[in-house]
Amino acid sequence: MFRFVSKNRSAILAGTGATVMGGYLFLRPKQHPDRIVIVGGGTGGIGVAAMLRNEDMKNVTLIEPKDVHYYQPLWTLCGGGVKNVSESAKPMKDILPKGTNWVQNKVESFQPTENKITTADGKKIEYDYLVVAAGIETKFDQVPGLQEGLESKDSGVVSIYDYNWADKTFKTFQRVSGSGAFGDKQKANYLFTFSPTVLKCAGAPQKIMWLLEDTLRSQGKRDQANITYWTPGGTMFGVKYYSDKLNKIREDRGVEAKFKQQLVKIDPENKVATFENVDTKEKVEQPFDMLHVAPHMYAPAFLQGSPLSDAKGFVDVDKHTMQSTKFSNVFALGDCTNTPNSKTAAAITSQAPVLVHNLRREIEGKKLDGFYTGYASCPLIISRGHTMLAEFGYGGRLMETFSRETGKFPLKYVGTDGDLQMRFFWILKERLFPFVYWKLWTRGMWYGTNGPIKPAVIKKEEATTQPVLGASSTK
Ligand SMILES: Cc1cc2nc3c(=O)[nH]c(=O)nc-3n(C[C@H](O)[C@H](O)[C@H](O)COP(=O)(O)OP(=O)(O)OC[C@H]3O[C@@H](n4cnc5c(N)ncnc54)[C@H](O)[C@@H]3O)c2cc1C
Repeated sequence: MFRFVSKNRSAILAGTGATVMGGYLFLRPKQHPDRIVIVGGGTGGIGVAAMLRNEDMKNVTLIEPKDVHYYQPLWTLCGGGVKNVSESAKPMKDILPKGTNWVQNKVESFQPTENKITTADGKKIEYDYLVVAAGIETKFDQVPGLQEGLESKDSGVVSIYDYNWADKTFKTFQRVSGSGAFGDKQKANYLFTFSPTVLKCAGAPQKIMWLLEDTLRSQGKRDQANITYWTPGGTMFGVKYYSDKLNKIREDRGVEAKFKQQLVKIDPENKVATFENVDTKEKVEQPFDMLHVAPHMYAPAFLQGSPLSDAKGFVDVDKHTMQSTKFSNVFALGDCTNTPNSKTAAAITSQAPVLVHNLRREIEGKKLDGFYTGYASCPLIISRGHTMLAEFGYGGRLMETFSRETGKFPLKYVGTDGDLQMRFFWILKERLFPFVYWKLWTRGMWYGTNGPIKPAVIKKEEATTQPVLGASSTK
């Protein structure tokens, strides 16, 4: 009797299990077998790989030569002595999404008509869909004397635009500000430059300036310093609304601006920088004690002249869908694209969900309807403890998450202006964003201004009817 019931129960359980399993298999979204290859395992590549992993698109290969992944936005805080540079790096193997096939190599060329890429060792890798996220190339060799200056311990030449030099920035600042002796001068000369090329995080060259200026102020040494901001541009920032605010801060804090001036040469031994007026070509020599340089940046060499790229070497994509304008099974995001947004990680957190959504639509043969608005943000540090959060889209259209006029419910009640708000934005920059990056973004669980809640992808109609606050751009 017992045996019979037991047997029967087993049969019932087995039957139920099979039904549940069958139902699961039936209801479970179809796993897309298509091979997706991602080029570049930086912010964009890792974010997309993680999002695909969380979806039903798991046949992913990521090609990345480096075995270390960097959270670059931290380098500003490292240069300002707020964070240690080691906090900005993690081994690739520790953050690679589970199940993602990592090819540790460099891509050398693309054969998009054959759906293939070639790596540096001559191997061909085939794909059904390709995502390019190769970043931008930082070139320290474009200004004579810059590389030597960075390599020399006592030159006073620094840059936060590289893991290897971020620490040197603060060490040099400490040495210069601590020496108290500036030869026959009364004050030390601190120069901060902006690049004549496109730049990732265009706010960083002045964030580091404000951080260090504030440190001098808090140490009671501000009157021992001449601080000058040298830029080939004509304003403090690309969006007029923020540029005006920054210019007011500059005037209030006695920082001199040298507009239309491009750094063309450094003599690290004698500590002299040469600048050229971009209009008149007139040159001036400027002695320095500390010189912070924002280097030239270009599209990565392997993209220049590639069938995917535009004339400048950036991957040519539709600025709203992130799909290649030339090959429908190719997408790209981040610093390597020619979308006219500000090149930031924040922009990538908005691009990635749109790209993943549109990639799925492409795979399923549907019309692409995900729409990237050009959103980017730049936490403009203005002192240790205060940050102005700049958020804007294409054409300098303000898109402030916390704005009382146009912000997102309920965040709009925070507002953007005032001491308390700036303290709050500092906490976002210094604490929340690094945490979010390592714990959520690299796991495909962060959706930009939507936080950890996966948004319904913005469609064109919604994107263009969002309220606008004082849209304006100086670019
Ligand atoms: C000092 C500094 C401060 C910043 N501050 C901020 C900030 O406050 N807020 C913000 O949002 N953003 C900030 N950014 C910008 C942000 O870090 C970048 O915009 C972002 O990391 C770009 O991501 P990406 O994936 O496009 O490129 P990356 O993260 O640079 O990744 C590109 C990857 O491609 C790989 N690669 C290159 N060539 C090849 C090849 N041939 N084959 C295969 N792989 C290749 C590289 O090794 C690299 O890992 C800052 C950047 C810097 C340097």
